[in-house]
Amino acid sequence: MVLWAALAGLLASGCAGNETPSPEKEQAVLNVVVTTGMLADAVRQIGGERVQVHALMGPGVDPHSYTASQGDIARLRRADLIVYNGLHLEGKMQEVLQNMAQTKPVLSFGEGLDPNRLRKVSSASDALDPHIWFDAALWESGVQALALRMSKQFPQHREPFLAGAARYGETLLALDQELRDVYAAIPQENRVLVTSHDAFEYFGAAYGFEVMGLQGVSTVAEFGLRDMTDMVNLLSERKIPAVFVESSVPHRSLQSVVEGCRQKGHPLVIGGELFSDAMGPEGSPEGTYVGMLRHNAALIAAALGTGGVAGGQSRIDAAAQDQTPATPQRQTP
Ligand SMILES: [Zn+2]
Repeated sequence: MVLWAALAGLLASGCAGNETPSPEKEQAVLNVVVTTGMLADAVRQIGGERVQVHALMGPGVDPHSYTASQGDIARLRRADLIVYNGLHLEGKMQEVLQNMAQTKPVLSFGEGLDPNRLRKVSSASDALDPHIWFDAALWESGVQALALRMSKQFPQHREPFLAGAARYGETLLALDQELRDVYAAIPQENRVLVTSHDAFEYFGAAYGFEVMGLQGVSTVAEFGLRDMTDMVNLLSERKIPAVFVESSVPHRSLQSVVEGCRQKGHPLVIGGELFSDAMGPEGSPEGTYVGMLRHNAALIAAALGTGGVAGGQSRIDAAAQDQTPATPQRQTP
């Protein structure tokens, strides 16, 4: 066996020494650097074994305030391709990304989306909301667009990229339907999602929730005492049972809202920790895009669903157990 392997190795290297065109170069694994975990997941699903993906922002990291370290800049310099969310999510990395774009392809996921499906931060501003991953169908369309743009940059990988995106697209559309079913089981009057910052507007529009964040669309903006008081009053008056903290935002601000409501006699609880702008740890179910959205759905259904929602919750738990988290693409529909 060892002899055979050695002999094969010798033959192979002998051939390569002659005039073989360079299939290695065509097959070379692309070094892709992305900003968020959600993007890392998307690029891995598109690229499969043809890409090596590194995400700069790990679990619990807030992309709005993230600045690139020296190590990040070195990684970005070595990358064959850079993918970022865009729409000003990575507000403090603009300059670095612009610089990198002078020497290599730097793709904004958000720019690949149909502009008509993007939401403005407010009616008074032209700024667009960057939290596009919370609508699984919208994210799916972005995955297809990204695969096309990656194929243009690296035409030698076109077929596998498009096939990877098509496979992952099926998983994402199935997820979208599953989420719709779970959320539809929550009573209409309870479909109010209150979180630390305004990350869930796309979510609300896609799945029928009214959403409110204590802070604005970016966590960089401060909230005032007035915002806090308004929120306490609103939650108490409408008897909203729960609010949600986020994995990438400090919890203390919402804790004060909970205390304020309790002082007014409204027994508000923290419904749990949602993954908002970052996924869970790698290797855990929440460390994938699909697992992250399922985790959020299970928490929201458990905290806001009264009565009829138990079925929805157990259903999504069962689905999460069936799922092999690291490789949703291998599921056959
Ligand atoms: Zn955010």
